[in-house]
Amino acid sequence: MSEREALFNSGVLTSERPGAIRPPRDLWDKKKAGLVVVECPQRIPCNPCATSCPVGAILPFEDINDTPRIDYQKCTGCGICVAVCPGLACFVVDLAYSEDRALYKLPYEMLPLPSKGDTVICLGRQGEELARGTVEAVIEPKRDRTYVIHVSAPKEFANDIRAIRTGDRA
Ligand code: SF4
Ligand code: SF4
Repeated sequence: MSEREALFNSGVLTSERPGAIRPPRDLWDKKKAGLVVVECPQRIPCNPCATSCPVGAILPFEDINDTPRIDYQKCTGCGICVAVCPGLACFVVDLAYSEDRALYKLPYEMLPLPSKGDTVICLGRQGEELARGTVEAVIEPKRDRTYVIHVSAPKEFANDIRAIRTGDRA
């Protein structure tokens, strides 16, 4: 099975597949507030990430079906693209957050909503449990947007934590 077929069949992107865009590590280690990670490998008619980025870090699309290209020097880690992406394909990871923990800014559309200070389970792309995290902020959406949950968790999962589980099961 080709990589493309595997992606279509599973709907799960692994970090090795084309389209899993990683920030350059030297910049990523230093950039306060973090850098965007965009996992959007498929050509689809969608571009709010590019049209909403306030600093032009997601380069303008030439075609509505383009996949995102990132200028990591410009990215401020603001998380606006996380809130506007309808595919929940944008994340921000702040590796400069602390010595051993990163701050993950993750899209969240489930109930119950977590609260600041809650312990949550951090999940990988296939829903696998990776670590416990602490909710540092809950960013309410503006109209037609998604909640963005800021969670601190071990840095070693920077390429893997992409969701959280909250509530009684955490
Ligand atoms: S995190 Fe903010 S600055 Fe970075 S790409 Fe997303 S919207 Fe642009
Ligand atoms: S908004 Fe999300 S789904 Fe749409 S092109 Fe950008 S990253 Fe992909």
